[in-house]
Amino acid sequence: MNITTEQMRFWSPEVRELEPYVPGEQPQIQNLLKLNTNENPYPPSPRVVEAVQKVLANSADVLRLYPDPEAVELKQAIAKQQAVALENVFVGNGSDEVLAHIFKAFFVQEKPILYPDITYSFYPVYSQFFGLGSHTKILPLNDDFEVVVDDYKQPNGGIIITNPNAPTSIALGVSAIEEILQANPDSVVVVDEAYVDFGAESAVPLVEKYENLVVCQTTSKSRSLAGLRVGFAIAQPHLIAALEAVKNSFNSYPIDRFAIAAAVASFEDQPYFEEQISKVIASREKLVAQLTEIGFKVLPSSANFIFATFASKEASELAAELREQGVIVRYFNKPRINQYLRITIGTDQQNQRLIDTLKNKILV
Ligand SMILES: *Cc1c(COP(=O)(O)O)cnc(C)c1O
Repeated sequence: MNITTEQMRFWSPEVRELEPYVPGEQPQIQNLLKLNTNENPYPPSPRVVEAVQKVLANSADVLRLYPDPEAVELKQAIAKQQAVALENVFVGNGSDEVLAHIFKAFFVQEKPILYPDITYSFYPVYSQFFGLGSHTKILPLNDDFEVVVDDYKQPNGGIIITNPNAPTSIALGVSAIEEILQANPDSVVVVDEAYVDFGAESAVPLVEKYENLVVCQTTSKSRSLAGLRVGFAIAQPHLIAALEAVKNSFNSYPIDRFAIAAAVASFEDQPYFEEQISKVIASREKLVAQLTEIGFKVLPSSANFIFATFASKEASELAAELREQGVIVRYFNKPRINQYLRITIGTDQQNQRLIDTLKNKILV
């Protein structure tokens, strides 16, 4: 919709300046193969469905009542699965919301926050949203798209790193995270582990040792619950308290009754979770081999997506031609990465369709 300048006069000056995040599209195309938003190709645990049905069966009684504002049952399930205490857990409506609260709670202050040039594209959006535009220092990844740890040893008001990184899929070792934590005893270091379950090492065990660490995770990718909107953070209680203060100044009931029940059920079904993760990892390795065979260069992935480039065709054209064939991948028209495609790992069958489409329709 086109808004006229005249209509815009109702908007606050701040909102007129916003450049919102653009989510990957959710198009309604028949026979679509959707490999663009890093959703999990497998359904959530059957126990999740049962839990939702149970809430539904009681809905006449319970839906008129507010949910638990603290979502204690959910925090307990997360604490158990992450081997931390209840007081170490914060939950939010998707980790995007948790990240927004993190920015508000820790980053809105005088010194600049630090993050890589190539990272989750929501960070610049939050930087702007919270008025940190000029308080942000963007640090380039090296030529292999790796975080340069020494860059994070300069005065700052907070650090945020995605691990494994998005959209590069490359993981940083926990010893590097620890080095960053030690170099910054007076600022909060946030590790966004949205994809950690697909093969990277989590920084959660460091929470006990570092009073400046916040680890953020989500049920959206590894637990197949992107539609549910449950994310969480793990940190020491003094940091959790700041997040609770922000949350309770914004929305006291971010997690509804369905989401609490469903997420609890998911955390309680660890065997299903592990089985499904191994399937995604096995499919990833197979897809990487197939893409490499037809001439793609694929960055080393510890995530449920890969970042790949193809020398003899523009990435934007590849993305457009794939789309014509009903296969949607993510293309970022941004410096340094505009020759790459981010491809979500599907089932073996879906990945095969991608390969067949490339081989038989596009690269012929
Ligand atoms: C998907 C993603 C999120 C957000 O996940 P939700 O919990 O669905 O809001 C956060 N960080 C990164 C790096 C992501 O890729």
